[in-house]
Amino acid sequence: MTRLCLTLTKKRLAENLQDLQTNKPDLAELRLDLLSPDEQKKAAAFPVQSPVPIILTCRLSRDGGAWKGCRTEREALLLEALEGNFAYVDLEKDEDSALLAAKAARQGTKIIRSLHNFNAVPANLEARLEEMALAGNMVKGAFMCRGCSDLLKIFEQAASWKKKHPLGPELILLGMGPFGLPSRILAGKMGLYLTFCSCEGEEAAPGHISLGTLRNLYRAGELGKNSQVFGIIGNPVLHSRSPEIHNPAFRSLQMDAVYLPFPVDDVKAFFKVAEFLKIRGFSVTVPFKEKVRSFLVKESPEVQSTGACNTVLGKAGASWQGFNTDIQGFLEPLTRILKAGETLKDMKTAVIGAGGASRAVTGALVQSGCSVTVFNRSPQRAQALAEHFSCSWAPLETLGTSGKKSFDLVVQTTSCGMKGKEDPVPAYQFSGREILYDIIYSPPETPLMHRAFAAGCRVLGGLPMLKAQGQAQFQLFAGKNK
Ligand code: NAP
Repeated sequence: MTRLCLTLTKKRLAENLQDLQTNKPDLAELRLDLLSPDEQKKAAAFPVQSPVPIILTCRLSRDGGAWKGCRTEREALLLEALEGNFAYVDLEKDEDSALLAAKAARQGTKIIRSLHNFNAVPANLEARLEEMALAGNMVKGAFMCRGCSDLLKIFEQAASWKKKHPLGPELILLGMGPFGLPSRILAGKMGLYLTFCSCEGEEAAPGHISLGTLRNLYRAGELGKNSQVFGIIGNPVLHSRSPEIHNPAFRSLQMDAVYLPFPVDDVKAFFKVAEFLKIRGFSVTVPFKEKVRSFLVKESPEVQSTGACNTVLGKAGASWQGFNTDIQGFLEPLTRILKAGETLKDMKTAVIGAGGASRAVTGALVQSGCSVTVFNRSPQRAQALAEHFSCSWAPLETLGTSGKKSFDLVVQTTSCGMKGKEDPVPAYQFSGREILYDIIYSPPETPLMHRAFAAGCRVLGGLPMLKAQGQAQFQLFAGKNK
């Protein structure tokens, strides 16, 4: 179990108190450097009013804070604030004020020694953390993760600290930035003392998540050593709605499990993280559905026929097996939108895109008897996919401009439209007779969907597919469909 520590970011103490009362964290960090100058002077009175223990911090701009004054002024301000009943004071590794250390000791305020690096995880991490622990202080390290290898260093260091110091000093260790996000969510699994978070919409440091998300979506405060880890890999992946599908499902089965996004730069490096955390299963999204295949020991027939894998299961972080639930997820909403007596058989279908998702879509449509033409920006990819499934292909720009008959079904499988403004086929004119199925689920309506609606088409977005494939995936994660 870890503690959820809310970083208070308001300029006025009363507003910060209000945030505490509304959010009810386990403890909170009061940042003197973020308070207005008149409020800084009153900080000593804050802890007695607070319902939770408070960490006192005055972060220098070098360490990501807003303190611009000189060190002497900062020391004076901290000494004044320490008159209050703070549970902890955060002092940087090189803050060597004997006055501050003595005052903290007198007041019964524990010292957290901290080290920040906004560029990388330091090479000699262990030695630097050990040095900070010499006086028995709690230790905090916050380092920018540049990729999965850096995230692994954070997890390895947390585990080795716990082995070496089973009785303390306690460690707070986190990876900053998108690649470090899993370290914030999994602090409890790693035995770390606390994890920092912000009020909704007020990110206080790179990669902070809101207290509500940490507590309600990820149940970060309830996770422990034996919690099972599931997730989704991709790049980008932080927009993924999948945690909203899987976490409530785990909760409803009372499983001690969490599902979180893992932004990935390098698949091989991610598999090392997965082995280390003994990840039980993960979803795969753009652009890794084909790349993960070389790490699998076994593939389902759907992965073999489509060449794309969207679900990986592992036994204690090894023996990875690949599945594809996109086929089932794609067909379910489509068959629901068909009119009575209408079937997919012989439907004249345009598939836009030739990536991982298109493989599942094209395979499912060909198997359902549709007459499929694959259109793609890179024509050679369209050709390779079409040859694999024995269907037709054409360059993307010819869709709607080649004078061919219009289609009964248009399926949009590219990532073009995710940013809300782009349209992969602006020249294509809907006749109004087509079904448009755009598998992008965020935003819920793409510009292409908007045009199809306006033309009178039946339109399906990607959310129903996401839910249907997620349900099939969850059955695999929960061991119901192996
Ligand atoms: P992928 O393997 O990376 O393939 C991306 C495809 O998009 C390629 O065909 C690529 O063309 C094309 N593309 C990218 N940018 C483009 C642009 N600006 N103009 C035209 N074409 C462009 O990705 P994926 O795994 O297939 O996923 C694609 C999309 O499907 C994503 O938005 C993903 O979220 C969505 N998806 C949704 C669900 C769901 O459940 N609803 C499931 C799976 C995927 P090139 O070959 O020329 O690069």
